[in-house]
Formats: sequence, structure tokens, C-alpha cells
Amino acid sequence: MIRAARAVLFDLDGTLLDHAGAAAEAISASFPGEDPERLVRRWLELTEASVDRYLAGELTLAEQRRARIVPLARELGLGDWDDARADAWLAGYLARYAAAWRPFPDAPGAVAALAERGLRLGVITNGDAGQQRAKIERIGLADRLRYLVTSGETGTAKPDPEIFHLACTGLGLAPGDVVYVGDRLDIDARGAASAGLAGVWLDRSSEPVPGGLDVPRITTLDELPALLAP
Ligand SMILES: [Mg+2]
Repeated sequence: MIRAARAVLFDLDGTLLDHAGAAAEAISASFPGEDPERLVRRWLELTEASVDRYLAGELTLAEQRRARIVPLARELGLGDWDDARADAWLAGYLARYAAAWRPFPDAPGAVAALAERGLRLGVITNGDAGQQRAKIERIGLADRLRYLVTSGETGTAKPDPEIFHLACTGLGLAPGDVVYVGDRLDIDARGAASAGLAGVWLDRSSEPVPGGLDVPRITTLDELPALLAP
């Protein structure tokens, strides 16, 4: 049980919005002749690796996107794509990805339940502010999740304590008053806990639970209201 929380901040992708589902739908539709299971696995690998390089400041947003499709095109036997070809393909892909943005089924109810309890709510996300804001709008949570802190706007990314502290300061709250919920044990739950917030791990996988777990673990957002003391 987490005591005396005054605000709950959420991760976005994989926590409120089914990013992997949307990416899978968009990439499968982009290359309909390919084995979807293999294609999706490879696309998510390339995505994670290039996003890590973007967050580390090695790539711009445009370069990050190209760094996913250029190697994939080569692996699919489509040759070496230059920037113009990659960007043209990306415009279509991003439209398909955006069309597939949906909330996880447990997200709207959990957000509404916490709002009814008078908790302040928001999002801390590693990503581009414009795109992340559009995602929150699309999944129907913009009214309740107006407070948005992004790595793109702050220049600091989870798990750096600085982004968690900036988010708390923006609310006028001490880290100890704030709960942070995310689907990544390392960068979300433990990152938040290291910054002094109450970090909660939303484990949506069916993988074995690691030993020595030092943060609360929930498997659905439906469990969140009961974890917070009234
Ligand atoms: Mg996430």
C-alpha cells in the first residue's frame, strides 16, 4: 500500500497506449508479403535500438526513424535506401502507426478512478512532445492528462532523476508525494524510486517475475487504485 500520494504520473507507450500493438499493425500492413511474426519482432528490435540512440542524443528524430527502416529494407532485399526514399516510406508508415493508436483497455477506467479521488494526474514520457501529445489526444485521455513532461522538451530522459524531479517541481510537489507507474522495471519503476517517487512496475508480460523485486508490481492498471491508500 502506498501512503499519502497526491499525484500519479504515468509512462505512455506500453502503459496507457499499446505502442507495440500499433507498431505491429503498421509494419505488417506495410510489408504484407512478409512473415508477420518475424517482421514485427525485427521491427520492434530496430525501433528500440534506434530510440535508445535518439534518447542518448546520438540521433535526431528524423535520423532515428531512418535508422529503423534503412537496415530493414536491406534485410528484406529491397536495396540501400537513401534519405528521400526512407522519408517517403516513413510518411506512410507513421500515418498507419497513428491510425492504430489505441489505449489499453484498463487505462481509461484506472485514470478516471484516480481522478475521482482527487489525485493530480499526468505523464512523463521519453519521446517527442508533439507526437506524445497527439497520442494522449487520440486515446481519449487529454482532458485528464493535461500535464505532460517529455524528454524532447526537457532534454533529460528517464531513468535520469532530473526528469522525475522536473515533473514533481512542475506540480509543486515533493517526489515523496508522487507515484510513477510504467511498464519498464528499470527505467520507469526503479528510475522513479531512485528519484524519490513511489515507483510502480506495470508488468504486462507473462514472463517470470525477477527475484529481489524492490518495487510494487501490478499486472493491470485495474490494480492501481487499491494500491494507493485512500
Ligand atoms: Mg513504456
